[in-house]
Amino acid sequence: MELHGSIKKTLLCGAVLLSCWPVVAQQTGGQPGSRPRELFNQLNNLSIDPGQIYALRGAQISRDRVKIYFNRGFIGFFEKADGETTGALYAGDGEVLLVPPNSTEKGSLAQFTQSAVLEERFSFAYLRFTDQTAKELMALARIPDPEDSEQPTGFVDQWSPVVRRLNPGFSLRILEDLLGERDRPYFVAQFQGVNLGGFAVAVDERAPEAVSAGATRFSHENRFTDIWCSFPSRTSETRSDSLAVGSVKVDSYKIDTRIDADNSLQGHAELQLESESNADQVLVFLLSNRLRVSEVRDEEGKQLEIFQGQPPGESASAFGADWVAVALPSARPVGSRFRLDFTYQGRVISDVGNGVLYVSAHEGWYPNRGLNMRARYDLTFRYPDRLTLVATGARVEESSEAGWKRSRWVSETAFPVAGFNLGPYDSRLRKIGKTTIEVYATSEAEAALERRHAAATRTGLRTVLLPSGRLTVEPVPKVVKPLAPSALLDQVAEGAARAIRYYESLFGPFPYPRLAIAQIPGEFGQGWPELVYLPTLSFLPEPEQTELGLVGKMQKLQDRAMVAHEIAHQWWGNEVGWRSTHDQWLSEGFASYSALLYLMQEKDGQRMATDLLRGYKHDLMSKTPEGSTIESGGPIWLGERLSNSQNPDGYSNIVYKKACWVLHMLRVLMTDPATGSDERFIRMLRDFLVAYRDSNPSTDDFIRHAAKYMPPALDLEHNHSLNWFFDAWVYGAGIPTYKLKATTRALGPDKYVTQGTIEQSDVPSDFQMLVPVVATYGRGKNVTLGLVAVSGEGGHFRFRTSAKPSHVAIDEDNLLAVSH
Ligand SMILES: [Zn+2]
Repeated sequence: MELHGSIKKTLLCGAVLLSCWPVVAQQTGGQPGSRPRELFNQLNNLSIDPGQIYALRGAQISRDRVKIYFNRGFIGFFEKADGETTGALYAGDGEVLLVPPNSTEKGSLAQFTQSAVLEERFSFAYLRFTDQTAKELMALARIPDPEDSEQPTGFVDQWSPVVRRLNPGFSLRILEDLLGERDRPYFVAQFQGVNLGGFAVAVDERAPEAVSAGATRFSHENRFTDIWCSFPSRTSETRSDSLAVGSVKVDSYKIDTRIDADNSLQGHAELQLESESNADQVLVFLLSNRLRVSEVRDEEGKQLEIFQGQPPGESASAFGADWVAVALPSARPVGSRFRLDFTYQGRVISDVGNGVLYVSAHEGWYPNRGLNMRARYDLTFRYPDRLTLVATGARVEESSEAGWKRSRWVSETAFPVAGFNLGPYDSRLRKIGKTTIEVYATSEAEAALERRHAAATRTGLRTVLLPSGRLTVEPVPKVVKPLAPSALLDQVAEGAARAIRYYESLFGPFPYPRLAIAQIPGEFGQGWPELVYLPTLSFLPEPEQTELGLVGKMQKLQDRAMVAHEIAHQWWGNEVGWRSTHDQWLSEGFASYSALLYLMQEKDGQRMATDLLRGYKHDLMSKTPEGSTIESGGPIWLGERLSNSQNPDGYSNIVYKKACWVLHMLRVLMTDPATGSDERFIRMLRDFLVAYRDSNPSTDDFIRHAAKYMPPALDLEHNHSLNWFFDAWVYGAGIPTYKLKATTRALGPDKYVTQGTIEQSDVPSDFQMLVPVVATYGRGKNVTLGLVAVSGEGGHFRFRTSAKPSHVAIDEDNLLAVSH
């Protein structure tokens, strides 16, 4: 059970949605016969031109670091669309070669292919492109020799079904170029590999990481898009705006949402946009495919052409279908501002029993450009007046009339995301300084939880005297008292108040005027600006939590930590965001460590924190279905890629739990050995929040910032940088094993010297760490002797003490390592 919630950044723009990974579009609305629609239809239906089939031998093309060899086979070019050839199918013997640019990407590739270099024979390749591929291959192709024993007989018939099936996944990306900028071309090849099966390689200059290779794979019936490697192209590396994603920015949203008695949603969203390209006409937005867009109009009221991901159930590739594309009649110059009005409807709210409602599309209930793209929000909701609705932002209006309620919520600053939750809630208000805490929960629990509750309580037995005079034992159906989430509103409010007070003492003022905490069905939480979603389980008393399966010390600790984790997101994730998926640990790892610090100062906190860290270490060291440790799935820096078919839980373990450990170790290293004060570490975090308020820093931003606060002892490389630490723990993977050998001898009365060596293994040879060493005296009193610099060559130490330690060891409570 994953109890940690997340603000999960969806890579809407470029990186995943529109680059190498096919999405299937369905078109709706717009003007019949418009150019975008005609072109789109044409692209979907392209087939191999029977007059364009050639022999290809010993031919080769290169795209960035990718080389494709067409050794011996036939190629059929597609019919032209808009006067251009945008595809070809090659059948025959070929080979693809890709050498990733660095050890991280080589390591990642090796996880999936058992080799740091992609070198694979293939039997066919489906190619799509908006670059010079057709021209290049045409120059290398030859008309089949009628004397040759091999002929392309039946080529079109054999390959047309494959072409027709694959086409729709690429049409939108190609349309984007045909109608827009031509200086960031697209090339993708879908291969049938001899050893690796189906996989794709893409070079998409619109994506921040243009070059990628990967495949769709299944694990326990879950579908994963495995990214084998992904990195910027040589062209994009030299581009000053290589991190710019997409071609439009949303400045503000005005969203009108009506929720009917049957929980269906009707939405109207006005987006104020700013163009970031001179030529792009196709704009893509994230929107749940359960919501169908009926029309999109520009500021003059003109209805625009729209393309939308297929509705659920209509496509085998429902994955990645949550988007809508809009074709502008003409491109808007860079910097120009314009408006788009979306109208959509559908079902994203479900009744999960006993009146409890669940909003399933947290991230796609309105058209947006992806999480973490900060914008202003003005939200209006209309809903049946038996419900209470709570949203992100300040509630500036609320009224009730004829069975309907209306409320309006306005963000005080640019928010990374907007959301709402609703139900037949009871609520409590509490004031902490200038911050209002509101807590909302239903009086009953969702049906699934209530069923588990009833099943768990039906265990009574009684002895019955039968008419025959015999005694028998039979089960008694106990009277089950229903779960009552709203009964604990006060406790939840009190817990939130304690967390806020503590975090304010560490990180500075609460970033917003209010915080609403609302119950949601299920088992995960989320911490959005001014709105925390907490699962029903967190609103139940401990005996009921235990009865419902929250068993064991670790699960209970994680549940306690979850409330604190979600509240910490107000600082980490909302006030300060993160730049890309690589930097997501700046939100999740920091929220997890904040929660640990919070636990630490509670009653018996040191023990709870130690238990939680040990539990995290245990989870990181546990094995994947493939038999390797979860932690070895890759460095924290890989972000969402860490969850894949080989390591389904990689992301939540590495980006939450390992990153929590990394911050813990950094705090230990920055703690003043003389006073035991962690003031330096806390000041570093507090100043980071001030320096990056309302913006999205990168991992490198944090590393540079942290180095300014390090004590001299941490300057291992004498260059005023902490790169050695972050190279080991964030950019690199691996948990080191240390072997300590120590001897103590007396120098005189009350004078001892303990000296020894530490050997390092199981990590790359350039892995360096300052290893805390502890001595045990008498009856288990532990004292830190100091930090020992250990590298691939090992390390040695010599400490003077006034008493003779009974035992000297690596401090495993403060170091993510295995020692013996
Ligand atoms: Zn989180």
